Amino acid sequence: PLVLGIETSCDETGVGIVRGHTLLADALASSVAEHARYGGVVPEVASRAHVAALVPTMQRALAEAGVRLADVDAIAVTAGPGLAGALLVGVAGAKGYALAAEKPLFGVNHLTAHVAVDTLQHGPLPEPAIALLVSGGHSSLLLVDDLAGRVRPLGATIDDAAGEAFDKVARLLGLPFPGGPPIDRAAREGDPEAIAFPRGLTAPKDLAEHPYDFSFSGLKTAVARWVEARQRAGEPVPMGDVAASFQEAVADVLTRKAVAACQAHGVSTLVIGGGVAANSRLRLLAEHRCARAGLTLRVPRPALCTDNGAMVAALGSHLVAAGAEPSRLDLPADSALPVSTVRV
Ligand code: ATP
Ligand code: MG
Ligand code: FE
Repeated sequence: PLVLGIETSCDETGVGIVRGHTLLADALASSVAEHARYGGVVPEVASRAHVAALVPTMQRALAEAGVRLADVDAIAVTAGPGLAGALLVGVAGAKGYALAAEKPLFGVNHLTAHVAVDTLQHGPLPEPAIALLVSGGHSSLLLVDDLAGRVRPLGATIDDAAGEAFDKVARLLGLPFPGGPPIDRAAREGDPEAIAFPRGLTAPKDLAEHPYDFSFSGLKTAVARWVEARQRAGEPVPMGDVAASFQEAVADVLTRKAVAACQAHGVSTLVIGGGVAANSRLRLLAEHRCARAGLTLRVPRPALCTDNGAMVAALGSHLVAAGAEPSRLDLPADSALPVSTVRV
């Protein structure tokens, strides 16, 4: 099927067009520069930017794919989770397009879409699969029995999301927002073993009680304390070592628990999605550990990991192919849509 996907859950206005598993267009407009000076996404600014960007981004995607709206079989839109006002712009816009062009509309889960995007690069996802979803607002391990409907959370962060930890640590190191990319770059010049930062929820008792949960706020505090101690002593902060050691702690815990989840559930495929999946150390460590455990690893290329419209189109295409019912035209935007609700 030819499916158009609209994404507006955070600061990226994305419109993607796919045919089956083939990506035809992925148009993106970002308001990230407007948020950078606040050190985080400002919801009202994001919503206004979506209003300005939606129609032109739509037109760019259609031109890039060389199709007309009349040609598409369905429209998919992120219905949640995300910023309420930002979601509303995409959902209202998608309803307008669906109504005008008389197309079925699928309101889909942004988090499932972060997983589904991998099908554009690696084809159909073998099911069941374990998905490690690591983004700016979420960090979860999911058991994906059926990408079109049955996704069960095995565990999640009990405090900060992995991406949030990258953003907060970047801020205290004086690096720009969003913090993932600059920390990834700074880490290349550093030693990942220079500083032993804590691995949250990995003590034997924690592993027993929280085998697939994560915690990153203690790590963030440990980095802050370490940096402050250096500064108090009047010593320079070794940016590369701090970045590399922090990144190592995050990648270590994420990959360890993801592999353990695969083994415990007898699942042979691990897929990683979300913005943090763009992290070079996480990708490399996951490769090593999956190879050693005999698991098949699937991680989409970095540009597909962060928010985009293609991921929404990919999930929409999968739903259409699976014969899923479209959403009602009065579908809600749900800022707290649970990860187990693939479509609304
Ligand atoms: P959610 O998907 O939970 O709603 P979001 O959509 O805002 O949140 P994404 O766009 O999926 O989040 O991911 C953004 C996050 O990914 C940011 O926290 C950013 O710092 C992080 N990130 C991006 N690139 C990298 C990288 N190379 N290394 C680590 N983190 C990264
Ligand atoms: Mg973003
Ligand atoms: Fe996201």
